Amino acid sequence: MRYQGIIYRPPSEFDSLIVQATIGCPHNKCSFCNMYSDRTFRFRPLEDIIQDLELGRAHYGKDVEKIFFSDGNTILMKTNDLLTLLHHCSKLFPNLKRVTMYGSAQYINLKTLDELIKLKEAGLSRVHCGMESGDDEVLKLMNKGFTRDEMYKAGTLIKKANIQLSLYYIVGLGGINLSKNHAINSSKLINEINPDFIRLRTLIPFENTRLYTLCNENKFEVLNGHDALNETKIFIENLDNITSYFLSDHISNHCKVNGKLPEDKTKILKELEYAASLDLSNFRNPKFGHL
Ligand code: SF4
Repeated sequence: MRYQGIIYRPPSEFDSLIVQATIGCPHNKCSFCNMYSDRTFRFRPLEDIIQDLELGRAHYGKDVEKIFFSDGNTILMKTNDLLTLLHHCSKLFPNLKRVTMYGSAQYINLKTLDELIKLKEAGLSRVHCGMESGDDEVLKLMNKGFTRDEMYKAGTLIKKANIQLSLYYIVGLGGINLSKNHAINSSKLINEINPDFIRLRTLIPFENTRLYTLCNENKFEVLNGHDALNETKIFIENLDNITSYFLSDHISNHCKVNGKLPEDKTKILKELEYAASLDLSNFRNPKFGHL
């Protein structure tokens, strides 16, 4: 396969054929993110992406079941181009079960419901969407490029189109000061959207980010293990009337808690309570980019 730069993918796409449809991220300004800081956003020519799909078929055969289109915000591609890609996917891989990509709220909202329904019908099964927070103050601080209302609009559009929605929440994104509001307002927004998946990430300030500078200047206080687990507890306690899978499928998290909501809520909260009762020395140093 032909790739440019480091390829990022959600852990759940570990067994997917990964094809780069876009390079970089059109936003590239989130305060905590350095994933695509080394590249300028661009769409790859359609014929190159199709060639890569054909390479995938030649190498892995016709039985590929999952495809993930990277990099950031592939949903921004023109709908007709995405439809062309999706048609090639089904033609080349007749047993395909899932096609997924990243999409942030501000780019999902550029599509109409009709366009999203067409994408679903052509095979787009799931969008991975970095909500990160449902609190406007945190979203602004992190320069996410959308408000909670815009996230609501994007989430409901995806759901109405019957595309699976995988929403990401970053524990600690409000630091110590905004921790409670971040947790409660994120739960509220998720309750309104009812995504198919809620995926937990825990904030780690990485070098070459604005957040890292804020930490160095003591303008942002990163949560320690106990604070992060307590924030997660508040977040889960406030989740209500949803039917989502809850997954902490990432190495950044202090505790591995997974389950289906609402039935596993009590179990998840008990596991978090137990983890929070462990001595703080069991958790990583909250500062500066180390897992
Ligand atoms: S939208 Fe996603 S990939 Fe782009 S800068 Fe923000 S977190 Fe990074």
